[in-house]
Amino acid sequence: MATQPLCVCEHCDAVYRRRALARREIARCLRCGAELYRDQRYDLNAMLALTLAALIVFVIANVYPIVRIEVQGVASEATLWGAIMATWNSGVGVVAALAAATVFFFPLGQIALFLHVLPALRRGRVPVHFSDAMHALRLVQPWSMVEVFLLGALVSVVKLAGLAEVIPGIGLWAFGILTLLLTTLTGFDLRRLWEIADGARR
Ligand SMILES: [Zn+2]
Repeated sequence: MATQPLCVCEHCDAVYRRRALARREIARCLRCGAELYRDQRYDLNAMLALTLAALIVFVIANVYPIVRIEVQGVASEATLWGAIMATWNSGVGVVAALAAATVFFFPLGQIALFLHVLPALRRGRVPVHFSDAMHALRLVQPWSMVEVFLLGALVSVVKLAGLAEVIPGIGLWAFGILTLLLTTLTGFDLRRLWEIADGARR
């Protein structure tokens, strides 16, 4: 019989053996009542569905224009990339690079990594490069959270430079929805995926 891993209460240092929880059950410390760990509300199917939804919304958010840019009297509508390039060209390269990373590359990376890990785990297998993918996810996750802020910063810089006005259309809505989806994915406890992978190895 496999020994269950130990778990320490972060508040009073009491030590417990972990056990499998029923759906939506929460394990609490007997001594101080603090939460120890909880059953993840979203099982693998739901997580995969969320990830696929995030991918679709990501594409929509990047295909539809979010700003109207005017250069030398000629107005044109620009997508996120257009806005990033305009910011870059107006001399605020740091903001452009940060926005590209947090609003484009980190979310895309997070979605791609989940799409690599989840389908295999769902079939009861451990995907190739599982631990690399999980470490990458841990690094990427905190950055995906700041994308609303960065999108806001990007838009205000473009606006301040007098280059653009925001289009309150499909693209901007898609970014809003994408942020909600990614926040939900980011809230998922990655340790749970490690446990599922451990179970699949046995
Ligand atoms: Zn405690």
